[in-house]
Amino acid sequence: MSKQSKNPETIALHGGDYRSDPATTAVAVPIYRTTSYQFNNTGHAANLFALKEFGNIYTRIMNPTNDVLEKRVAALENGLACVTVGSGQAASTFAIVNVCQAGDNFVSSTDLYGGTVNLFTHTLKKLGIEVRYADPSDPKNFEKAIDEKTRCFYAETLPNPYLRVFPIKEVSDIGRKHNIPLIMDNTAAPIICKPLDHGAAVVVHSLTKFIGGHGTVIGGCLVDGGNFDWTADPKRQPLFNEPDMSYGGAKWGEVVPQLTGANVSFAVRARVCLLRDLGAPLAPDNAWGIIQGLETAPLRMKQHCSNAQKVVDFLQKHKNVDRVIYPTLHKGVVGDRAKKYFSGGNGALIGIEVKGGVEAGKKFIEALKMFYHVANIGDARSLAIHPATTTHSQLSEEELLAAGVTPGYVRLSIGIEHPDDIIADLKQALDASGKPSLKAVS
Ligand code: PLP
Repeated sequence: MSKQSKNPETIALHGGDYRSDPATTAVAVPIYRTTSYQFNNTGHAANLFALKEFGNIYTRIMNPTNDVLEKRVAALENGLACVTVGSGQAASTFAIVNVCQAGDNFVSSTDLYGGTVNLFTHTLKKLGIEVRYADPSDPKNFEKAIDEKTRCFYAETLPNPYLRVFPIKEVSDIGRKHNIPLIMDNTAAPIICKPLDHGAAVVVHSLTKFIGGHGTVIGGCLVDGGNFDWTADPKRQPLFNEPDMSYGGAKWGEVVPQLTGANVSFAVRARVCLLRDLGAPLAPDNAWGIIQGLETAPLRMKQHCSNAQKVVDFLQKHKNVDRVIYPTLHKGVVGDRAKKYFSGGNGALIGIEVKGGVEAGKKFIEALKMFYHVANIGDARSLAIHPATTTHSQLSEEELLAAGVTPGYVRLSIGIEHPDDIIADLKQALDASGKPSLKAVS
C-alpha cells in the first residue's frame, strides 16, 4: 500500500509492502519453498551475515512468504516488526528467552493458558529462569513482585476460564516506570484489541487460532511494538546492552536502531539469535495457510463476536445454565475493561456453568450435534470442551476451583455459522443436560 491504511479489513489483504510477486507478478502470495538463497557475490554474502545489509540468507531465519505474513500482522497490531515461529508455544518461549537468561526472573499474570503455565513453571525453571505469578485483579501485584533481576511482565489479553480482560495500561505503566516491558499474548482478541496502543511493548500470538481461523495450521509470532527503549536502563536489560559474543560483540539495543533506523531490537534479536540457535521457524507452507486465514480474519472476528453476543443473551435465559462468563458480564472495574480495551466486539469465548455439576456438563457435551468437542479455540466452527473431564481431569477438586474450573464449567468458542443454528444446537444440548439419564432412572 502506498499509504498504509489503519483499517484491519484492508491491512489483512494489503498490509506491508507486498503488491505482487517480484519475479512473476502473481497477485496471491507465493509459497517460497526454498531453504537457501543465492548470494550476489562474496561481499554481498559477508554484508548479510554482518547485518550491514538486510536480505535473505536461510529459511530457518527468514523467508519471503513468512515476510508477507509478518508485515501484515505487525501492521494489524500497530507494531513495527514481526517474527513468525512454528507455534504459539514457541512464540511465548522466544518472548521470554529474548529478555531473560539463567538467574533472571519475570512476572506473569496468574490468568494464563495451561500450556504457558507448564512452560513458565517447569521448563523455564529448569533453564534457570524464574516466573513470579501476580494476580491481575490488582495491577499493583506486578510491582510488588519486581526485583533488580526482573526483565519483563507477561499476560494474556483475554484469558479463559474467567475471561477477565487484562489491565494492559495499568500494568504497562508500572512496568515503564521500572524499564520493564509488558509482553501480551493477544491470541484470543486479535483485531478487537491492540495491546501495543495501550503501552505493551511486545505482542505474541498463537496464529493457530483466530488469525489462521480454519483449524488447519499451527503457527505463532512475536510483534515488536517499537515503543520501548531497551537502552534506557542497561542493568535492567543486559541482553540488549551487553556485548553478544555470538554476534561479534553486538549490543542489540544500540546496533539495531543504528543499522535499521528503527527501534526493532527485540524483533531482530529474536530472529538473528533465537531462530538461528533454537530453530522453530514457521514453515513457508504454513505461513501461506495462515495468510489465507488472515485475509478474512477481520470479517470473521465481526461474525464471531456478534454470534457470541447472541449466544450470551440466549444462555442467560436458559434454566439449565447456572452462570454465564463473558468479558462484559463481570461487574465493576473488570467488566469496564472490556469497554476500555476492546472495540468492535468482545470476543468469541464464553464460559458456562451447566446446572447439575460434572454429570450435567458431560451430558451437555455429548448431546451437542454441530459443535465440535475439541481442545481448541478460534476455529471458524463452533467448539466446546468440558475441562473437568478433559484438560483439567488430573486436578483435585480444590485445584480445579483454583484454576476457575467448576465441575459443570464448559468453554465455548463460538464460530461463524448462522447464529440460529448455533443457538439451536446449544438449546437441544442444554435441554438434554437437565434430563435424568436412562441409567439413573432404571
Ligand atoms: N496462547 C494461548 C492463549 C493459547 O490458547 C494457546 C493454545 O491453545 C497458545 C498460546 C499456544 O499456541 P499453539 O497451540 O499454537 O502452540
